[in-house]
Amino acid sequence: MKIFKNIFDFQKEFNTEEKCREYLEQQRWDGTPACPFCGSINVHRFPNGKIFKCREKGCRSKFSVTVGTIYENTKIPLTKWFLATYILSVHSKGISSLQLAGWLGVTQKTAWHLNHRIRAMLTDKAPELLEGIVEIDETYVGGKEGNKHASKRTVKGGTGNKAMVLGAVQRNGKVRTKVIPKTDSANVVETVKGFVAPETTMVTDEHHAYKKLAADYIHKTVNHREKEYVRNEKGFKVHTNNIEGFWNILKKQIVGIHHVVSEKHLQRYCNESAFRYNNREAFQDERFATALKQCNGSLTYKELTGKQ
Ligand SMILES: [Zn+2]
Repeated sequence: MKIFKNIFDFQKEFNTEEKCREYLEQQRWDGTPACPFCGSINVHRFPNGKIFKCREKGCRSKFSVTVGTIYENTKIPLTKWFLATYILSVHSKGISSLQLAGWLGVTQKTAWHLNHRIRAMLTDKAPELLEGIVEIDETYVGGKEGNKHASKRTVKGGTGNKAMVLGAVQRNGKVRTKVIPKTDSANVVETVKGFVAPETTMVTDEHHAYKKLAADYIHKTVNHREKEYVRNEKGFKVHTNNIEGFWNILKKQIVGIHHVVSEKHLQRYCNESAFRYNNREAFQDERFATALKQCNGSLTYKELTGKQ
């Protein structure tokens, strides 16, 4: 049964702190509250319903459902957090901090911090290795930016104002991305091995760095320099259209929504886009539940900016 199908239903469903808390407990703990400090399920719930106490000797910690999650240590009510999480996990393009500030009635600074914390939540903490047929490609986010005026550049910092991202997408499956310092063999080999199961068929363009992977993978190359984009081989088509499609989505989101992002935060933007891509076939309520299940973690304002 669907819990909600659209934003109207969503807001009816999660209009009080209590409803949000109960739903978060369900997703985070699968209905069995566990101490975030020692992991014990031997816990006592206080009559107010919100606070728990661990019964383990030597722990005895008090906690609520948000302790140890991205939502901890904030004056923002869960109803607002939930709406922001809904928008980032479900909305096709994400949302700028200026727009989010307007929607939630918070300052832009708060919305910016919220946005980044939710991006951290949308990061797949235990991704599986890709297999089958995997397309791999590298891109410069911001494209050829050397000639652009500084205010028009998509990424601040990085090599020549460009940041490099390596991506791999399994056909009919998931995408994975990593911001890398440069596309030399060492970086490319290490990243691909972290993404793709050995002996998988991988399709790349003619970039020399991929040649080092020939020993571990079945490597097919599409020759873009010769204007070759799709080649039919026994049983499958050799092309990198899926990963290039993902780059288009990523760049549209970054340029269209955020205009400019700093290189040190770029991985989080990639993770946000990848989350929506990887859950593209799931219903709204499933995507939202998947996001909440990944709520463990933290990202403080100081970690984000170096400032208090
Ligand atoms: Zn405990």
